[in-house]
Formats: sequence, structure tokens, C-alpha cells
Amino acid sequence: MQVDLRTDPAELGNKIPEPSRLRELIHRYSGPGPRYTSYPTVPEWSAEFGPEDYRRALAACDARSVSLYVHVPFCERLCSFCACNRMITQDHEIAGPFLDRIEREVAQVADALGSERAQVQLAIGGGSPNFLRTHELDRLIRIVDARFPPEADAERSIELDPRRTQEEQLELLMARGFNRVSFGVQDLDEKVQQAINRHSRPERLAALMDRARKLGAKGINFDLIYGLPEQNVASFQETLRKVLELRPDRIALYGYAHVTWISKAQRSFEKKDLPTPDLRLAIFAAAIERLCGEGYRYLGMDHFALPEDSLAIAADEERLTRNFMGYTVATGDALLAFGPSGISELDREYAQSEKDPEAWAERIDQGGLPIVRGLTLSDDDVERRWLIRKLLCAGRISDDDFAKTFGVALRERIPGLDRELGGFVADGLLEADDGGYRVTPAGRLFLRPLAMTFDAYLKTSEDAPRRYSATV
Ligand code: SF4
Repeated sequence: MQVDLRTDPAELGNKIPEPSRLRELIHRYSGPGPRYTSYPTVPEWSAEFGPEDYRRALAACDARSVSLYVHVPFCERLCSFCACNRMITQDHEIAGPFLDRIEREVAQVADALGSERAQVQLAIGGGSPNFLRTHELDRLIRIVDARFPPEADAERSIELDPRRTQEEQLELLMARGFNRVSFGVQDLDEKVQQAINRHSRPERLAALMDRARKLGAKGINFDLIYGLPEQNVASFQETLRKVLELRPDRIALYGYAHVTWISKAQRSFEKKDLPTPDLRLAIFAAAIERLCGEGYRYLGMDHFALPEDSLAIAADEERLTRNFMGYTVATGDALLAFGPSGISELDREYAQSEKDPEAWAERIDQGGLPIVRGLTLSDDDVERRWLIRKLLCAGRISDDDFAKTFGVALRERIPGLDRELGGFVADGLLEADDGGYRVTPAGRLFLRPLAMTFDAYLKTSEDAPRRYSATV
């Protein structure tokens, strides 16, 4: 198998390795590691960072524009593979009090900022945001927009569970300026769906796609998962065949993370129910080949996009950025999160809210901000965060850019850089580039292990890697 990870003709000479070599590389680099939606990663944050630290950071925040995230934690049924922060309930009456609290949380944060900031990005995730009924979704959007007015070209996205998406929900979202929709598809094989307790029909998905597109949605994303119980290469290829008929603009192909210390639900799977590491790898490799063969571009960190999609264009133009929502084009100067488990990012601070929905509600009811951990970044953290982001988003790190940004030479800051990256260069995953390094198309599969090279905390904490899922 020889696959172009990018369909750009300029890259045609750059192939990912033959299967046996690819297998060897994956075995070498697939140990546990962070996904780097933040640096330093959450386990390094401190419970000593609390509401007053966040309030002070908000008061000092000079961000002109903001990205916003709202976490809606409710789901009606438990999918047994799920490791998300969610609350299973069939009681829809909890939505009203939840929205009351979101309104109070938004008001507290906006008041702490002290002046109006423009909304350039809004993402609603969960859980299942469309657990909320149409009028409740409408109220949620109005609550946020009232304090953070959206720019005309704001990127507004929502995660939707296709099993319970109503056409009127789509109509409302598009009328309220939403332009991105992400459907949680995961797998369309019946045996797999049975095993993960999540049943969705391709016909339903097709109807929703059609409606969303007619209403003007762009950048429609499907989430898929490989490595689930009952999956094999043929079954997942059949799922991909059905997905490709609908041709979503973006596909996020995540590896199932077996993290039973986080998710009790996953304890229903025995090890023997899961694909062996070799089969998991075969499913993954065949999926990459299929998606790239069908014209999708591999952006890295599990994300594929059609070449004409704004994410792929931004990747070409080195405008791609990354925050807690994953890869994005539009990102504000600060990220403000609302709802249980929400993570906010200011210039030099991270702050996370109480994860448990009831504990989060209690904190709001007491009149405070629900922050339970966070971090103020050191200069070293800021520089390494910059390097990791450059690697994940632009696929390169430049000596010059680093020196211009921080006023110090890259190798002065990280003296062992060339030695530490030498193995990746020898394996064809990185190449020297104008005093820095550029990720090769093959290296895009190994962005997480590459980024780990810059993680100072992994080097000082022996058990740190074990907190994470497999990197490939
Ligand atoms: S996978 Fe999604 S819909 Fe299923 S329980 Fe988890 S958050 Fe809810």
C-alpha cells in the first residue's frame, strides 16, 4: 500500500511507508500520550487555582475577540464506549434549571471581563446538545449572544446526535447563524452498534445531511471511531462506504480509547471483545488508504477534510489553529467555556469547571464561578505550547519564527533539540527545514509522539504517560 496523505501534487513523491514499515513505526511510536488540546496538559494543572484566580485573570484579560464553548452534559442513553463527561437522564425537565445556571455563569464571566468582547467562534458540545428541545436550544444561543455578540462571519458549530436530531432543530440552528454541524456517527455496522449500544441508520443520516446542506451548513463533520468491539477491516470499510456516499466535508477518525479508570461504562467490554492491536492497526491503515484514495486530505491528529473545505485550505495556508475544540480556522484571543467540565484558556491561564453536573450546579447556586483547577503558565510553558501548536497545526517549527516571537534562539531554549528529534528524522517523519523542522506526510500520523518531545512534564513525571490513551 502506498498512500498520499495529501493530494497536493507537490507532495506526490512523499508517501507513507509500506504496511510492514508502517506497522513497525506504529509499534515504535504508539505508546500512551496526550492529545495536546492544551499544553501543559490537564493532569499538570493545580486544584489551588480557583475561582478567584480565574476572576482576576478575566479582569486583566485584554482579548478583543473570544471563542466560546458550552458543554451540555445530558444524554438519554449511555453508549458503552463513551468516556465523555455526560449525565444519562430521560428527564427533560432538568433543561430549564440548567439553562438558568448557564445564564448566571455567562453573566459572571462577562461581568468579570468588564467590557464587551466579540464572539468569533461558538461551539456547543456534550453530552448531546440536542438533548435540548428546539426552544431550549434557542434560549441557550440567545443567552450566549446577548453577552458576547457574534461577528457576522463567526464560526458557529454544534455536535448533534443523529438519532435525535429534529429538522426543526437544524432550521433553528441555521437561522441563528450556525454554519458547522458535527454528527456523531461512530460506526454503521449493526453488530458493532449492538456492542456499543448505539443504533443509528444511514438513511436517517442521509436525510439529515441533505437537510443541513440545503439550509446552508458547511464543514459538516462525521465523527467515526476505529478499534471498537466487533469491528474488523471489512466491517469498517463497509461503514466507510456508506459514509463516503454522503461525502461529509470533514471526518474525525478517532481511535477508541480504552480508559476504564475514567469510564465505568467501558468495563462492560472485556479485552477479548476488542480488536487485537494488529487488527486495530489494520482497520486504521485501511481507513486512511480509503479516505485519502477518495480525495480527503489528512490534516493530522485524526482529522480529514476535503480539499475545498475551509480546514484543508487553512492547513495549506498555515492558518490552522487548535484549541480545546480541536482544529479550527476561527479562533478568538481567548477561549471561554461554560457548563460542567468546561475549560477556558486565556493568554496565560487555563481554568476548568467542576466536571460533575450536580456539583457544577451547586457552585453556580452558591453564586460563585465553578472553577476547580487551573494553571498560570510560566514562560517555559508558553514557549513549549507555541512549539507544540506549530507542530500540530503548521506541521513545522522554524528557528526564525521562534526567535522573532520570543527573542531567543530555539536551540538556546532547547539545547538537545536536534538529538531528541534525530530519531524522527531517521524514520522519515521529520525533515530539516531552514534551521527548523518540517513534518513529512508520513509524520502527520505521528504528531502526538512528535509533540511529546517538547513536553517538559512528561520528562519529569515517570507515570505521566500512563494517564493517556495510545497515540496511534
Ligand atoms: S457517546 Fe455521545 S451520545 Fe453516547 S453517551 Fe457519550 S456523550 Fe452521550
